[in-house]
Amino acid sequence: MSRAFNFSAGPAVMPEAVLEQAASEMLDWHGSGMSVMEMSHRGKEFISIYEQAEADLRELLAVPAHFKILFMQGGGLAENAIAPLNLSHGGAMDFVLTGSWSQKSLKEAGKYGTTRLAATAQADGFTTLPAPATWQIGADSRYVHICSNETIHGVEFHELPDLKALGCDAPLVVDFSSHVASRPVDWSRVGLAFGGAQKNLGPAGLTLVIVREELIGHALPHCPSAFDYKLVADNQSMYNTPPTYSIYIAGLVFQWLKQHGGIAAMELRNIAKAQLLYDFLDRSSLFENRVAKDCRSRMNVPFFLRDESRNDAFLAGAKAANLLQLKGHKSVGGMRASIYNAMPLEGVQALVAYMREFEKTQA
Ligand SMILES: *Cc1c(COP(=O)(O)O)cnc(C)c1O
Repeated sequence: MSRAFNFSAGPAVMPEAVLEQAASEMLDWHGSGMSVMEMSHRGKEFISIYEQAEADLRELLAVPAHFKILFMQGGGLAENAIAPLNLSHGGAMDFVLTGSWSQKSLKEAGKYGTTRLAATAQADGFTTLPAPATWQIGADSRYVHICSNETIHGVEFHELPDLKALGCDAPLVVDFSSHVASRPVDWSRVGLAFGGAQKNLGPAGLTLVIVREELIGHALPHCPSAFDYKLVADNQSMYNTPPTYSIYIAGLVFQWLKQHGGIAAMELRNIAKAQLLYDFLDRSSLFENRVAKDCRSRMNVPFFLRDESRNDAFLAGAKAANLLQLKGHKSVGGMRASIYNAMPLEGVQALVAYMREFEKTQA
């Protein structure tokens, strides 16, 4: 068996130990005689899996007691509708545009209330982040939305904005799909955070919502019941059948994170991996990253060959070297290396070694 280094943006690389454990438990989970995917979500076996996963996540991310953790479905894109359905009160919402994902959120929310542009980095081609002090937030704002890591453009907020310090009482809504669990979260600045699991937490199908209790219970009348945060919270995320197998695998990932020192240790590893790659890119004559240094993503690293006619040769050589899924998103072009928690340092070292070699042979 040979496992490649997989730089996919999502669904993405998983910790090998988690895959092995899931394989060993596939037919018979802990002597239950059942696979997890065959269990009732209301049975004691699955309830124990669910409760452990929630407790581990709360511990890992240091989620305060006055926040609910909801395990939902629909992905980040569905949350672009579900969040406004629950939080907008039909009023106005402010959006900070920093790339493709916040752009999608803005567009979708317009179906459920008035949307406003608080700030945009579009003129810079989404290679910078607008400084919070410049954001234009309405006094009647129901919430302010940011995407704290733009998976496609490769920009990341290294500190969440402090809306209160800007004189704004509205809650902050954060799409943290692609860097959740890669670094600690300052919950004192967050009203609600959501993210699909398939970037950094587990397989597709599970969507994480972590929300302040007082924001729950205000859904618009036409909000689908299965997407009403209050119904979901009151039913321990089991108003309808939750994505049981995805929750189980995410739970194994949470245990893997704990065994590896938790989020603080993960952050240090992620800093080291990103630094290795960015340092190489910044010194290279053949490759470049165009994102401003202070807002570069630690998870998603877009880069370009200065001579784009060599793109195909680069990708073919990478594949031959077992370095997969490096092609950039079609809206940006070039290349992208996603280096989530489960990507070992050795994977980034192998990528940099390949790029160095490619540079030599092309010189
Ligand atoms: C992948 C991604 C999404 C979309 O997730 P889906 O599960 O496809 O709906 C939303 N936001 C960000 C930041 C993402 O990276």
